[in-house]
Amino acid sequence: MNCYNCQKDILEGSRYCYHCGAAQKPLTPPPAAPAKPLRRSRRHKVIGGVCGGFAEYFNLDVALVRVIWLLIALFGGGGIIAYIICWLVIPLEEEHAHAAVPAPQS
Ligand SMILES: [Zn+2]
Repeated sequence: MNCYNCQKDILEGSRYCYHCGAAQKPLTPPPAAPAKPLRRSRRHKVIGGVCGGFAEYFNLDVALVRVIWLLIALFGGGGIIAYIICWLVIPLEEEHAHAAVPAPQS
């Protein structure tokens, strides 16, 4: 990064410039996306909806999460236990989470 005062190169994340001593503006973090609660998915559910829930939480492809989880289960051995723990611990998403807007009553 460059000092905003003297424009000399200083270490990334420095709070003060080594050259002119000017206080550097704090790095503004990118606006965080609204936190989604981790929920088991009703939409992408095969067994417990755990993989679907993780996929929705991390904005990943459900199939990708399943493949990764399966590989961990096959080679690491902990995947099945982890799935059961997640199944027990992560609440199922609300029933109306993906519900369509109800048709207006006539
Ligand atoms: Zn400076």
